[in-house]
Amino acid sequence: MTNSSGSRYAYRMYNVKPSAIRELMKVTRQPDVISFAGGWPAPELFPAKEMEKVCQKVLKEDGAYALQYGASEGYQPLREFIAGRMSDKGIDITADNIFITSGSQQGLEYSAKLLVNEGDVVICESPTYVGAIGAFNPYLPKYVEVPMDEKGMIMEELEKALIENPKAKFIYTIPDFQNPTGVTMSGERRKKLVELAGKYGILVIEDSPYGDVRFEGEKLPPIKYYDKEGIVVYLGTFSKTFCPGLRVGWVAAEPDIIRKYVLIKQGADLQVNSLAQREVVTFAKMYDFDGHVNKIIDSYKSRRDAMLDAMEKEFPTNIKFTHPKGGLFTWVELPKHIKAMDVFEKAIEAKVAFVPGDSFFPNGGDKNHFRLNYATMNEEKIIEGITRLGKVLKTL
Ligand code: PMP
Repeated sequence: MTNSSGSRYAYRMYNVKPSAIRELMKVTRQPDVISFAGGWPAPELFPAKEMEKVCQKVLKEDGAYALQYGASEGYQPLREFIAGRMSDKGIDITADNIFITSGSQQGLEYSAKLLVNEGDVVICESPTYVGAIGAFNPYLPKYVEVPMDEKGMIMEELEKALIENPKAKFIYTIPDFQNPTGVTMSGERRKKLVELAGKYGILVIEDSPYGDVRFEGEKLPPIKYYDKEGIVVYLGTFSKTFCPGLRVGWVAAEPDIIRKYVLIKQGADLQVNSLAQREVVTFAKMYDFDGHVNKIIDSYKSRRDAMLDAMEKEFPTNIKFTHPKGGLFTWVELPKHIKAMDVFEKAIEAKVAFVPGDSFFPNGGDKNHFRLNYATMNEEKIIEGITRLGKVLKTL
């Protein structure tokens, strides 16, 4: 059956294509493939034993509430816990500024629902997080991509984009250990970005799932730290510092913006899982949350070192890659004439996988990059996988 325009599906779905990564993951899940593809954290670092005790405590002491409906804004002690952690970063914030989401992915989807009409311009880094493109696409935006260098989005290019697109709806940025490039925006540029957003009257969506997973170097304040006008909407998550399967994230913004997000939630899924929200707070009360994050940092740092060392040794010298100081990803640049998709096909034959980079460019075009995740595999597998990949690259 089709409607009068000849299509069964709503026009918002025209732009929605299967995620390249999800399709590739099917191949990469074969047991003998060493996969640097997905964005998954290392499962052995999940505090499963501790969570057994946490779950028991929550159900014993708070079972009736943990299994009941709750407020659409989120569980108040969790909002307070998050506001406290963000205040520690110098941000002037209270629980009233926090709205709990089902991961930051939901924060992305709700942001587009709240802000984007068909044809509106979204300004983003080039490349950007493929999941954000997927979250925004049903709202039919136009993307204006701003080039990056080793210090993040280039501010002169951003200003050009703002001048050329005076009605752009928001600037979407991942300032810390960006997915996919691993690049971090400098402190100077964070400040400048807020200045430009204020000057041109545009909101900033700051997506920072990796900000706390820093291995080395100076800690930088979130972009929201520089925001005195309430124009930065910060998206946070416990997926990379704790457990992605719990699906707990948040939006931090001015209370009037938070109220709009809450209205969306009331019409969507009412609230985030009551039990999961309590589990985060109870874990933080029973155990050392930062100590847990430090364990993740130590492990990913060793894996990053193992991967970059192996790449230095095994990759041909005409192949460049980023040196991230945190997060999960490094971004590889092939010479222009080599296509990442061709390398991918040969790599799969050699039983090693990564994500070709073109899906991270919302307007398409780039064919010679790919993303590697160093967090999921142990060091032995990393060295073996990079050796296999190096052999493939040497044949091109
Ligand atoms: N933003 C970015 C940049 C990400 O890399 C991810 C996860 N891969 C997300 C948002 C979504 O994370 P979650 O929904 O698990 O919080």
